[in-house]
Amino acid sequence: MDISYIINELGEDRAQYYGSVTPPIMQTAMFGFDTVEKMREALVKEADLPFYTRGHNPTTYMLQQKMAALENAEDALVFASGSAAIGAAIMANVNQGDHVVCVQKPYSWTGKLLNNLLSRFGVTNTMVDGTNPQNFETAIQPNTKVIFLESPNSWTFEQQDIAAVAQIAQRHGIVTIMDNSYATPLYQRPIDYGIDMVAHSATKYISGHSDTVAGILCGSKEMMAKIFASEFMTLGGVISPFNAWLLLRGLRTLPARLERVSNTTAQVIDYLQQHPMVSKIYYPFLESDPQHELAKKQMLKGAGQFSIALETDDMETMERFCNQLNRFVMACSWGGHESLIFPACVLYTSANYGAATLPVNLIRFYVGLEEPEALIADLEQAFEAIITKVN
Ligand SMILES: *Cc1c(COP(=O)(O)O)cnc(C)c1O
Repeated sequence: MDISYIINELGEDRAQYYGSVTPPIMQTAMFGFDTVEKMREALVKEADLPFYTRGHNPTTYMLQQKMAALENAEDALVFASGSAAIGAAIMANVNQGDHVVCVQKPYSWTGKLLNNLLSRFGVTNTMVDGTNPQNFETAIQPNTKVIFLESPNSWTFEQQDIAAVAQIAQRHGIVTIMDNSYATPLYQRPIDYGIDMVAHSATKYISGHSDTVAGILCGSKEMMAKIFASEFMTLGGVISPFNAWLLLRGLRTLPARLERVSNTTAQVIDYLQQHPMVSKIYYPFLESDPQHELAKKQMLKGAGQFSIALETDDMETMERFCNQLNRFVMACSWGGHESLIFPACVLYTSANYGAATLPVNLIRFYVGLEEPEALIADLEQAFEAIITKVN
């Protein structure tokens, strides 16, 4: 795969816009025509030709083509958020009375889509421990239409054996959808392992600058056309041309950013591994991780997200450690230039996030583009602050 060709050239035609090196932002709601015939043609091919920006916009279309190529998919659709992409993908494949098998502990709003929203329309689900592919097969019912994966998953980063689950689904004629936000298409390509559709929160690595919320869905032409004609156009959760342009800009540097993030993360984890206050690290590329072999089989490298458990169950110690960090912004999300932490103890006062499922001593990290030494020094002084207090 010629990644730099896809990122720099594919879908772009600079002669059409004065040789401008960067593409124009087609900030328009609709497009005009000289003849009835031309307007008729555009309306018939509303997904592929400029007619109305909810359906097709040339700036957004460049991003669609690049993302489809990177995921080795025939086609892609760009949404206003990752959640909109996931929602459309699942909804397009279920009817009232159907059933979904989903990996346990998916991204929180994926869980809410299944448990709170789709359940209102008679769509049931079973969430399974995804570390054993057999659990997916066991959960299949006669009315199962979708298997939903997220590998590695949010917070604890368990993986699913993508090829094994895809094979099970194919045997049963069930559609597979996978959230690939963690790894991006550069580090993991689920479609190559037999997955039908891949969803991304492009808010994360694709944007890469913490300034845009967006989602992308990749799959076959047939599946994307089906979703375009129903969920995509009817629910209308589309992105603005400007945000699509920001994602194109983010994509230009994705390989360089990911490599830097991956290398820095390895150094930060090396430091954390030898620290006596760290009781556990959740990272698929840790050699001692029970799924390390699977990680090497289906992912090229580890990304910047991992979690650690501290050697304490005291909320106050956790809060002190987190408050003490200066170089890690305390925030949700990840994938941008800046390092982040999301302490699980934050969830303990919020009814909205089903707190009790995560231990209070867990912190999710994202390592950004800072120098590894600066991040390690910051962690060191935060550990010192809690150790001094303990003694
Ligand atoms: C953030 C995230 C989402 C949701 O994406 P939005 O762009 O915030 O709607 C879905 N899956 C994973 C794994 C995420 O981290």
